[in-house]
Amino acid sequence: MNPALLRAKLAQRAAQHLQRRRRTVTAIEPGGFVQVDGARLVNFCGNDYLGLASHPALAQALSQCAARSGSGSGASHLVTGHGLEHERLEADLAQFTNRPRALLFSTGYMANLAAITCLAARDSRLVMDRLCHASLIDAARLAGARLRRYPHADAAAAAAALCGAQAGAVLVTDGVFSMDGDLAPLPQLAQAAAAAQACLIVDDAHGLGVMGPSGRGCLEHFGLSLPSVPVLVGTLGKAFGCFGAFIAADADCIEWLLQSARSYIYTTALPQPVAAAARAALALAQQESWRRERVLALTARLRAAAAQLGLPLLPSPSPIQPVVLGDAARAVELSERLFAAGFWVSAIRPPTVPLGSARLRITLSAAHSEPQVDALMEALGRELPRVAA
Ligand SMILES: *Cc1c(COP(=O)(O)O)cnc(C)c1O
Repeated sequence: MNPALLRAKLAQRAAQHLQRRRRTVTAIEPGGFVQVDGARLVNFCGNDYLGLASHPALAQALSQCAARSGSGSGASHLVTGHGLEHERLEADLAQFTNRPRALLFSTGYMANLAAITCLAARDSRLVMDRLCHASLIDAARLAGARLRRYPHADAAAAAAALCGAQAGAVLVTDGVFSMDGDLAPLPQLAQAAAAAQACLIVDDAHGLGVMGPSGRGCLEHFGLSLPSVPVLVGTLGKAFGCFGAFIAADADCIEWLLQSARSYIYTTALPQPVAAAARAALALAQQESWRRERVLALTARLRAAAAQLGLPLLPSPSPIQPVVLGDAARAVELSERLFAAGFWVSAIRPPTVPLGSARLRITLSAAHSEPQVDALMEALGRELPRVAA
Protein backbone atom coordinates (compact mmCIF):
# COMPACT_ATOMS: atom_id res chain seq x y z
CA MET A 1 0.00 0.00 0.00
CA ASN A 2 1.45 3.40 -0.91
CA PRO A 3 1.91 6.02 1.84
CA ALA A 4 -0.78 8.43 0.54
CA LEU A 5 -3.38 5.65 0.51
CA LEU A 6 -2.39 4.56 4.02
CA ARG A 7 -2.78 8.13 5.27
CA ALA A 8 -6.19 8.43 3.62
CA LYS A 9 -7.36 5.17 5.19
CA LEU A 10 -6.21 6.26 8.63
CA ALA A 11 -7.98 9.61 8.23
CA GLN A 12 -11.16 7.82 7.21
CA ARG A 13 -11.02 5.63 10.32
CA ALA A 14 -10.66 8.71 12.51
CA ALA A 15 -13.56 10.50 10.78
CA GLN A 16 -15.80 7.48 11.45
CA HIS A 17 -14.82 7.42 15.15
CA LEU A 18 -13.28 4.01 14.54
CA GLN A 19 -9.70 4.90 15.32
CA ARG A 20 -8.31 2.73 18.10
CA ARG A 21 -6.12 4.13 20.79
CA ARG A 22 -4.00 2.34 23.33
CA ARG A 23 -3.78 3.49 26.89
CA THR A 24 -0.73 2.63 28.94
CA VAL A 25 -1.28 0.90 32.26
CA THR A 26 1.49 2.03 34.56
CA ALA A 27 0.44 0.18 37.71
CA ILE A 28 -2.07 -2.46 38.79
CA GLU A 29 -3.30 -2.05 42.35
CA PRO A 30 -5.38 -4.29 44.58
CA GLY A 31 -9.15 -3.81 44.56
CA GLY A 32 -9.65 -3.52 40.81
CA PHE A 33 -7.71 -0.26 40.53
CA VAL A 34 -5.30 0.58 37.74
CA GLN A 35 -3.10 3.57 36.99
CA VAL A 36 -3.65 4.62 33.39
CA ASP A 37 -1.93 7.53 31.67
CA GLY A 38 -1.36 9.06 35.09
CA ALA A 39 -4.93 8.60 36.38
CA ARG A 40 -6.23 6.11 38.96
CA LEU A 41 -9.31 4.26 37.75
CA VAL A 42 -11.41 1.20 38.45
CA ASN A 43 -10.94 -1.24 35.57
CA PHE A 44 -14.36 -2.37 34.35
CA CYS A 45 -13.31 -3.74 30.97
CA GLY A 46 -10.73 -6.46 31.47
CA ASN A 47 -11.24 -10.21 31.37
CA ASP A 48 -9.74 -10.92 34.80
CA TYR A 49 -13.07 -12.29 36.04
CA LEU A 50 -11.72 -14.07 39.11
CA GLY A 51 -9.27 -11.34 40.08
CA LEU A 52 -6.32 -13.73 39.68
CA ALA A 53 -4.14 -11.76 37.25
CA SER A 54 -2.34 -9.86 40.01
CA HIS A 55 -2.51 -12.61 42.65
CA PRO A 56 0.85 -13.02 44.42
CA ALA A 57 0.68 -16.83 44.18
CA LEU A 58 0.78 -16.62 40.40
CA ALA A 59 3.71 -14.20 40.41
CA GLN A 60 5.50 -16.44 42.87
CA ALA A 61 4.95 -19.58 40.79
CA LEU A 62 6.16 -17.68 37.75
CA SER A 63 9.33 -16.33 39.32
CA GLN A 64 10.25 -19.60 41.07
CA CYS A 65 9.87 -21.49 37.80
CA ALA A 66 11.87 -18.84 35.93
CA ALA A 67 14.70 -19.24 38.44
CA ARG A 68 14.77 -22.98 37.68
CA SER A 69 14.08 -23.11 33.96
CA GLY A 70 14.73 -19.64 32.57
CA SER A 71 12.34 -17.28 30.90
CA GLY A 72 12.09 -18.77 27.43
CA SER A 73 11.39 -22.31 26.32
CA GLY A 74 13.92 -21.99 23.53
CA ALA A 75 12.19 -24.08 20.87
CA SER A 76 8.88 -25.45 19.75
CA HIS A 77 7.18 -28.29 21.66
CA LEU A 78 8.18 -30.93 19.11
CA VAL A 79 11.85 -29.99 19.20
CA THR A 80 13.26 -29.21 22.66
CA GLY A 81 10.73 -26.69 24.02
CA HIS A 82 8.36 -29.07 25.81
CA GLY A 83 8.97 -29.13 29.56
CA LEU A 84 7.74 -30.59 32.80
CA GLU A 85 5.52 -27.57 33.61
CA HIS A 86 3.78 -27.93 30.24
CA GLU A 87 3.27 -31.63 30.89
CA ARG A 88 1.85 -30.93 34.34
CA LEU A 89 -0.42 -28.14 33.16
CA GLU A 90 -1.83 -30.32 30.39
CA ALA A 91 -2.59 -33.02 32.95
CA ASP A 92 -4.27 -30.48 35.25
CA LEU A 93 -6.33 -29.09 32.38
CA ALA A 94 -7.43 -32.54 31.26
CA GLN A 95 -8.54 -33.27 34.80
CA PHE A 96 -10.26 -29.89 35.20
CA THR A 97 -12.23 -30.31 31.97
CA ASN A 98 -12.83 -34.02 32.63
CA ARG A 99 -11.36 -35.03 29.27
CA PRO A 100 -8.71 -37.64 28.45
CA ARG A 101 -6.16 -35.17 27.17
CA ALA A 102 -5.36 -31.48 26.73
CA LEU A 103 -2.88 -29.73 24.46
CA LEU A 104 -1.36 -26.34 25.26
CA PHE A 105 -1.16 -23.50 22.76
CA SER A 106 0.50 -20.12 23.02
CA THR A 107 -2.77 -18.24 22.51
CA GLY A 108 -6.47 -18.88 22.04
CA TYR A 109 -6.16 -17.43 18.58
CA MET A 110 -3.67 -20.15 17.68
CA ALA A 111 -5.71 -22.88 19.39
CA ASN A 112 -8.71 -21.94 17.27
CA LEU A 113 -6.59 -21.95 14.09
CA ALA A 114 -5.52 -25.47 15.04
CA ALA A 115 -8.95 -26.78 15.98
CA ILE A 116 -10.60 -25.67 12.77
CA THR A 117 -7.86 -26.26 10.22
CA CYS A 118 -7.17 -29.75 11.56
CA LEU A 119 -10.75 -30.88 12.11
CA ALA A 120 -12.55 -29.33 9.13
CA ALA A 121 -11.41 -30.75 5.80
CA ARG A 122 -10.97 -28.36 2.89
CA ASP A 123 -14.26 -29.26 1.22
CA SER A 124 -16.30 -30.00 4.34
CA ARG A 125 -19.15 -27.86 5.59
CA LEU A 126 -18.36 -25.55 8.47
CA VAL A 127 -21.29 -24.01 10.32
CA MET A 128 -20.67 -21.13 12.70
CA ASP A 129 -22.59 -18.62 14.82
CA ARG A 130 -22.55 -15.16 13.23
CA LEU A 131 -21.04 -13.65 16.40
CA CYS A 132 -18.21 -16.16 16.80
CA HIS A 133 -14.86 -14.72 17.85
CA ALA A 134 -12.66 -13.25 15.10
CA SER A 135 -10.08 -16.02 15.56
CA LEU A 136 -12.69 -18.63 14.62
CA ILE A 137 -13.63 -16.70 11.50
CA ASP A 138 -9.98 -16.37 10.50
CA ALA A 139 -9.51 -20.08 11.16
CA ALA A 140 -12.46 -20.88 8.90
CA ARG A 141 -10.92 -18.80 6.12
CA LEU A 142 -7.58 -20.50 6.55
CA ALA A 143 -9.17 -23.95 6.53
CA GLY A 144 -10.83 -23.19 3.21
CA ALA A 145 -13.94 -25.08 4.31
CA ARG A 146 -17.40 -24.18 3.04
CA LEU A 147 -18.49 -21.68 5.66
CA ARG A 148 -22.11 -21.05 6.58
CA ARG A 149 -22.86 -18.58 9.34
CA TYR A 150 -26.19 -18.71 11.13
CA PRO A 151 -28.06 -15.96 13.04
CA HIS A 152 -26.74 -15.53 16.56
CA ALA A 153 -27.66 -18.31 19.01
CA ASP A 154 -30.27 -19.74 16.64
CA ALA A 155 -29.96 -23.51 17.03
CA ALA A 156 -32.73 -24.22 14.53
CA ALA A 157 -30.82 -22.20 11.94
CA ALA A 158 -27.66 -24.11 12.82
CA ALA A 159 -29.51 -27.41 12.30
CA ALA A 160 -30.84 -26.15 8.96
CA ALA A 161 -27.34 -25.06 7.90
CA LEU A 162 -26.06 -28.56 8.67
CA CYS A 163 -28.89 -30.22 6.80
CA GLY A 164 -27.69 -32.33 3.88
CA ALA A 165 -24.02 -31.95 4.81
CA GLN A 166 -21.70 -34.84 4.04
CA ALA A 167 -19.97 -36.66 6.89
CA GLY A 168 -17.22 -34.57 8.42
CA ALA A 169 -19.18 -31.37 8.90
CA VAL A 170 -18.12 -29.13 11.78
CA LEU A 171 -20.31 -26.91 13.98
CA VAL A 172 -18.53 -24.12 15.86
CA THR A 173 -19.67 -21.75 18.59
CA ASP A 174 -18.39 -19.64 21.44
CA GLY A 175 -19.66 -20.86 24.84
CA VAL A 176 -20.03 -17.36 26.31
CA PHE A 177 -20.05 -14.77 23.52
CA SER A 178 -17.20 -12.38 24.10
CA MET A 179 -18.91 -9.11 23.18
CA ASP A 180 -22.50 -9.94 24.23
CA GLY A 181 -21.94 -12.10 27.29
CA ASP A 182 -24.80 -14.46 26.52
CA LEU A 183 -24.47 -18.25 26.29
CA ALA A 184 -24.80 -20.41 23.20
CA PRO A 185 -27.77 -22.80 23.27
CA LEU A 186 -25.36 -25.69 23.69
CA PRO A 187 -27.82 -28.56 24.35
CA GLN A 188 -29.70 -27.75 21.14
CA LEU A 189 -26.50 -27.26 19.18
CA ALA A 190 -25.18 -30.60 20.45
CA GLN A 191 -28.41 -32.20 19.28
CA ALA A 192 -28.13 -30.57 15.85
CA ALA A 193 -24.51 -31.71 15.54
CA ALA A 194 -25.37 -35.28 16.55
CA ALA A 195 -28.24 -35.43 14.06
CA ALA A 196 -25.90 -34.36 11.25
CA GLN A 197 -22.95 -36.45 12.55
CA ALA A 198 -21.03 -33.22 12.76
CA CYS A 199 -18.20 -32.43 15.16
CA LEU A 200 -19.10 -29.71 17.67
CA ILE A 201 -16.29 -27.34 18.69
CA VAL A 202 -16.98 -25.02 21.63
CA ASP A 203 -14.67 -22.09 22.37
CA ASP A 204 -15.34 -21.38 26.04
CA ALA A 205 -12.74 -18.62 26.50
CA HIS A 206 -15.09 -16.59 28.72
CA GLY A 207 -17.01 -19.41 30.39
CA LEU A 208 -14.20 -21.44 31.94
CA GLY A 209 -13.56 -20.56 35.56
CA VAL A 210 -16.81 -18.61 35.77
CA MET A 211 -19.85 -20.54 34.56
CA GLY A 212 -21.11 -23.88 35.87
CA PRO A 213 -21.60 -25.01 39.49
CA SER A 214 -17.86 -25.57 39.96
CA GLY A 215 -16.52 -23.14 37.35
CA ARG A 216 -15.87 -25.72 34.68
CA GLY A 217 -17.57 -23.52 32.14
CA CYS A 218 -20.57 -23.61 29.85
CA LEU A 219 -20.43 -27.36 29.32
CA GLU A 220 -20.79 -27.92 33.05
CA HIS A 221 -23.51 -25.26 33.16
CA PHE A 222 -25.54 -27.28 30.66
CA GLY A 223 -24.45 -30.72 31.89
CA LEU A 224 -22.69 -31.62 28.63
CA SER A 225 -19.49 -33.58 28.14
CA LEU A 226 -17.84 -36.01 25.77
CA PRO A 227 -18.95 -37.26 23.29
CA SER A 228 -21.67 -34.68 22.62
CA VAL A 229 -19.08 -31.88 22.64
CA PRO A 230 -15.94 -33.54 21.31
CA VAL A 231 -13.70 -30.46 21.24
CA LEU A 232 -13.36 -27.78 23.90
CA VAL A 233 -11.12 -24.74 23.44
CA GLY A 234 -10.16 -22.73 26.51
CA THR A 235 -7.87 -19.83 27.28
CA LEU A 236 -5.65 -19.09 30.26
CA GLY A 237 -5.54 -15.32 29.77
CA LYS A 238 -9.04 -14.50 31.00
CA ALA A 239 -10.54 -15.96 34.19
CA PHE A 240 -7.23 -17.71 34.93
CA GLY A 241 -5.34 -14.42 34.81
CA CYS A 242 -2.33 -15.76 32.88
CA PHE A 243 -1.61 -16.32 29.23
CA GLY A 244 -1.94 -19.22 26.83
CA ALA A 245 -4.68 -21.57 25.76
CA PHE A 246 -5.55 -25.23 25.31
CA ILE A 247 -7.72 -27.71 23.51
CA ALA A 248 -9.23 -30.57 25.52
CA ALA A 249 -10.59 -33.61 23.73
CA ASP A 250 -10.18 -37.38 23.44
CA ALA A 251 -6.70 -38.82 23.06
CA ASP A 252 -6.84 -39.41 19.29
CA CYS A 253 -8.09 -35.92 18.57
CA ILE A 254 -5.30 -34.39 20.65
CA GLU A 255 -2.71 -36.63 19.01
CA TRP A 256 -3.95 -35.52 15.58
CA LEU A 257 -3.64 -31.86 16.58
CA LEU A 258 -0.15 -32.47 17.94
CA GLN A 259 0.87 -34.18 14.68
CA SER A 260 -0.71 -31.72 12.28
CA ALA A 261 -1.58 -28.31 13.72
CA ARG A 262 0.70 -25.73 12.12
CA SER A 263 -0.04 -23.18 14.87
CA TYR A 264 1.25 -25.78 17.35
CA ILE A 265 4.23 -27.12 15.46
CA TYR A 266 5.77 -24.02 13.92
CA THR A 267 5.97 -21.77 16.93
CA THR A 268 7.97 -21.47 20.13
CA ALA A 269 6.47 -23.20 23.15
CA LEU A 270 4.80 -21.09 25.84
CA PRO A 271 7.40 -20.13 28.47
CA GLN A 272 7.39 -22.68 31.30
CA PRO A 273 7.04 -19.99 34.02
CA VAL A 274 3.74 -18.98 32.40
CA ALA A 275 2.59 -22.60 32.56
CA ALA A 276 3.60 -22.75 36.23
CA ALA A 277 1.57 -19.60 36.96
CA ALA A 278 -1.41 -21.04 35.09
CA ARG A 279 -1.26 -24.18 37.26
CA ALA A 280 -1.35 -21.99 40.36
CA ALA A 281 -4.32 -20.10 38.92
CA LEU A 282 -6.19 -23.28 38.10
CA ALA A 283 -5.67 -24.53 41.66
CA LEU A 284 -6.84 -21.22 43.18
CA ALA A 285 -9.90 -21.08 40.94
CA GLN A 286 -10.93 -24.46 42.27
CA GLN A 287 -10.03 -23.90 45.94
CA GLU A 288 -11.47 -20.41 46.22
CA SER A 289 -14.97 -20.81 44.88
CA TRP A 290 -15.85 -17.49 46.52
CA ARG A 291 -14.20 -15.79 43.56
CA ARG A 292 -16.75 -17.20 41.13
CA GLU A 293 -19.61 -16.60 43.54
CA ARG A 294 -18.47 -13.05 44.09
CA VAL A 295 -18.17 -12.07 40.43
CA LEU A 296 -21.61 -13.55 39.75
CA ALA A 297 -23.11 -11.75 42.77
CA LEU A 298 -21.62 -8.47 41.52
CA THR A 299 -23.09 -9.25 38.10
CA ALA A 300 -26.55 -9.64 39.65
CA ARG A 301 -26.06 -6.41 41.58
CA LEU A 302 -25.12 -4.51 38.42
CA ARG A 303 -28.13 -5.91 36.55
CA ALA A 304 -30.49 -4.95 39.36
CA ALA A 305 -29.10 -1.40 39.38
CA ALA A 306 -29.45 -1.20 35.59
CA ALA A 307 -33.08 -2.29 35.80
CA GLN A 308 -33.75 0.43 38.38
CA LEU A 309 -32.16 3.03 36.15
CA GLY A 310 -34.05 1.77 33.12
CA LEU A 311 -30.74 1.00 31.38
CA PRO A 312 -31.14 -1.60 28.68
CA LEU A 313 -28.68 -4.48 29.07
CA LEU A 314 -28.33 -7.55 26.87
CA PRO A 315 -29.67 -10.84 28.33
CA SER A 316 -26.31 -11.91 29.72
CA PRO A 317 -25.82 -14.17 32.75
CA SER A 318 -22.02 -13.79 32.61
CA PRO A 319 -19.72 -11.05 33.96
CA ILE A 320 -19.79 -9.46 30.48
CA GLN A 321 -22.54 -6.82 30.61
CA PRO A 322 -22.63 -4.63 27.49
CA VAL A 323 -24.55 -1.38 27.18
CA VAL A 324 -25.35 -1.11 23.47
CA LEU A 325 -25.45 2.47 22.17
CA GLY A 326 -25.45 1.78 18.44
CA ASP A 327 -23.47 4.76 17.27
CA ALA A 328 -19.68 4.58 17.59
CA ALA A 329 -19.29 8.28 18.43
CA ARG A 330 -21.80 7.99 21.31
CA ALA A 331 -20.05 4.92 22.68
CA VAL A 332 -16.72 6.74 22.61
CA GLU A 333 -18.18 9.82 24.28
CA LEU A 334 -19.79 7.84 27.08
CA SER A 335 -16.57 5.90 27.59
CA GLU A 336 -14.65 9.17 27.89
CA ARG A 337 -17.15 10.59 30.36
CA LEU A 338 -16.84 7.51 32.54
CA PHE A 339 -13.07 7.69 32.27
CA ALA A 340 -13.18 11.25 33.60
CA ALA A 341 -15.34 9.97 36.47
CA GLY A 342 -12.76 7.30 37.36
CA PHE A 343 -14.10 4.25 35.53
CA TRP A 344 -12.35 2.49 32.69
CA VAL A 345 -14.95 1.00 30.36
CA SER A 346 -13.74 0.90 26.79
CA ALA A 347 -15.98 1.46 23.80
CA ILE A 348 -16.26 -1.55 21.50
CA ARG A 349 -16.88 -0.57 17.91
CA PRO A 350 -17.13 -2.18 14.48
CA PRO A 351 -15.60 -4.34 13.13
CA THR A 352 -15.26 -6.00 16.55
CA VAL A 353 -19.07 -5.85 16.80
CA PRO A 354 -21.58 -5.57 13.92
CA LEU A 355 -22.19 -2.14 12.35
CA GLY A 356 -24.67 -0.07 14.37
CA SER A 357 -24.08 -1.99 17.61
CA ALA A 358 -21.20 -0.04 19.19
CA ARG A 359 -21.27 -0.49 22.93
CA LEU A 360 -19.63 -0.18 26.27
CA ARG A 361 -18.56 -3.63 27.30
CA ILE A 362 -18.67 -3.59 31.08
CA THR A 363 -16.99 -6.56 32.71
CA LEU A 364 -16.95 -7.51 36.35
CA SER A 365 -14.26 -9.13 38.43
CA ALA A 366 -14.05 -10.75 41.84
CA ALA A 367 -11.50 -8.00 42.55
CA HIS A 368 -14.29 -5.38 42.49
CA SER A 369 -16.23 -4.26 45.53
CA GLU A 370 -19.93 -3.58 45.86
CA PRO A 371 -19.43 0.19 46.35
CA GLN A 372 -17.36 0.27 43.14
CA VAL A 373 -20.18 -1.35 41.18
CA ASP A 374 -22.74 1.00 42.75
CA ALA A 375 -20.60 4.02 41.91
CA LEU A 376 -20.17 2.86 38.30
CA MET A 377 -23.92 2.51 37.87
CA GLU A 378 -24.52 5.88 39.43
CA ALA A 379 -22.05 7.46 37.01
CA LEU A 380 -23.63 5.62 34.10
CA GLY A 381 -27.11 6.82 35.08
CA ARG A 382 -25.81 10.36 35.29
CA GLU A 383 -23.68 10.42 32.12
CA LEU A 384 -25.78 8.42 29.66
CA PRO A 385 -28.51 11.09 29.27
CA ARG A 386 -25.77 13.68 28.67
CA VAL A 387 -24.41 11.86 25.66
CA ALA A 388 -25.80 13.35 22.46
CA ALA A 389 -28.56 11.23 20.92
C1 LIG B 1 -9.95 -13.94 23.77
C2 LIG B 1 -10.59 -14.96 22.92
C3 LIG B 1 -9.83 -15.81 22.13
C4 LIG B 1 -8.35 -15.60 21.94
O1 LIG B 1 -7.63 -15.99 23.04
P1 LIG B 1 -6.17 -15.39 23.24
O2 LIG B 1 -5.53 -16.34 24.18
O3 LIG B 1 -6.37 -14.03 23.80
O4 LIG B 1 -5.53 -15.37 21.89
C5 LIG B 1 -10.46 -16.83 21.47
N1 LIG B 1 -11.80 -16.99 21.56
C6 LIG B 1 -12.57 -16.17 22.27
C7 LIG B 1 -14.03 -16.40 22.32
C8 LIG B 1 -11.99 -15.12 22.98
O5 LIG B 1 -12.75 -14.28 23.66
